[in-house]
Amino acid sequence: MNTRQTLLDHCSRHLGALRSEGRYRDFTRLEKIAGRFPTYRWHGPGGAREITVWSANDYLGMGTHPAVQRAAAEAVAAHGAGAGGTRNISGTSPLHAALEAELAGWHGKPAALLFGSGYLANQAALSALLAALPGMEVFSDAMNHASMIDGMRRSPARRHIWRHNDLDHLESLLRAADPAAPKVIAFESVYSMEGDIAPLHALCDLAEKYGALTYLDEVHAVGLYGAEGAGIAERDGAAARIDVIEGTLAKGVGVFGGYIAGEAELVDYVRSVAGGLIFTTALPPPTVAAALASIRHIRADAPLRARLAERAAALKAALDAAGLPRLDSHSHIVPVPVPGADACRAVARRMLEEFSIYVTPINYPTVPRGTERLRLCATPFHDDAMIAGLVRALGEVLRMPKAA
Ligand code: PMP
Repeated sequence: MNTRQTLLDHCSRHLGALRSEGRYRDFTRLEKIAGRFPTYRWHGPGGAREITVWSANDYLGMGTHPAVQRAAAEAVAAHGAGAGGTRNISGTSPLHAALEAELAGWHGKPAALLFGSGYLANQAALSALLAALPGMEVFSDAMNHASMIDGMRRSPARRHIWRHNDLDHLESLLRAADPAAPKVIAFESVYSMEGDIAPLHALCDLAEKYGALTYLDEVHAVGLYGAEGAGIAERDGAAARIDVIEGTLAKGVGVFGGYIAGEAELVDYVRSVAGGLIFTTALPPPTVAAALASIRHIRADAPLRARLAERAAALKAALDAAGLPRLDSHSHIVPVPVPGADACRAVARRMLEEFSIYVTPINYPTVPRGTERLRLCATPFHDDAMIAGLVRALGEVLRMPKAA
């Protein structure tokens, strides 16, 4: 067999199928403009143009906050661009230690550990913890992120999937499992494609009843909820009941990287065995310094969080007043259903080309087929005029679909 030719044939067949199903991913070229968030520059076929972005995960605009930019610039001047080694091989600076201490304190946990991304944090921590004891069973919400699923699959643990946020279903699975088996319940707080929020206390009640460890992904909540922005666990007073909290530095914090926080022995164990930590270069010092500055700012800036909540409510009210469809979101993430991959992509394209508004179309496999949607994210910086412009454009595009 000519492997090269056979593989190339396979690739072009697969790419052709993605195109014909409307699922081929184009990366839209967008440029952030410091001081102007959420205005970006779109580099499209007709040249560069300023647009309003409604699908950024830089939920608080911290990526271009002056204190964060300054911290990154100072660290690059003082320490250079890269860590130059894994954590174990000359890659751990005092900045890394300071950020881990800050994260632990933020989440009210004894220890925290940085990773190259939130994806890696979930993959490495879950695969390490789920392989630690023989006969482990993991219970996973059906909407858990791909990185958690990846971590579970890389472990020998038996996986049970409960219907999204359906605690009766989760309890029936827990009840049916071997009472002697070690168990982990893995879930998110804010679900990024639905905008809904898990009932943390009820999940912890079940975990206590069945002797399970709790693992919570707060990726879409850190920075945004709770008195100091530590997430939904802080907001709901549930942090002490969660064994492992996983988060990202790339969304609310606006920079890059991921982490876990939890009991010292658990975190130290992951640090000592997880391949996704041990065999990869540490986060760059400017990234770490920027994240540290961002978190210190966020913890003290409750008005920014209040403004986010107010803007999210304003966005939902404006969509409702215009009779536009949306999912029942309880967060800053507001999905607008546009079923069909082609239709969803066509709507997003028209929003960009005709109205200079960027919204991301979400297709299978991120969401089930037939539930395609535009994922809108409110931020404190989307003003009334931007909301009005979005609603006007959506109303026009959704009601008068042009041929794609
Ligand atoms: N968990 C969830 C729920 C996510 O949505 C994502 C990223 N979209 C991640 C983890 C991974 O985080 P990161 O982008 O930092 O890799």
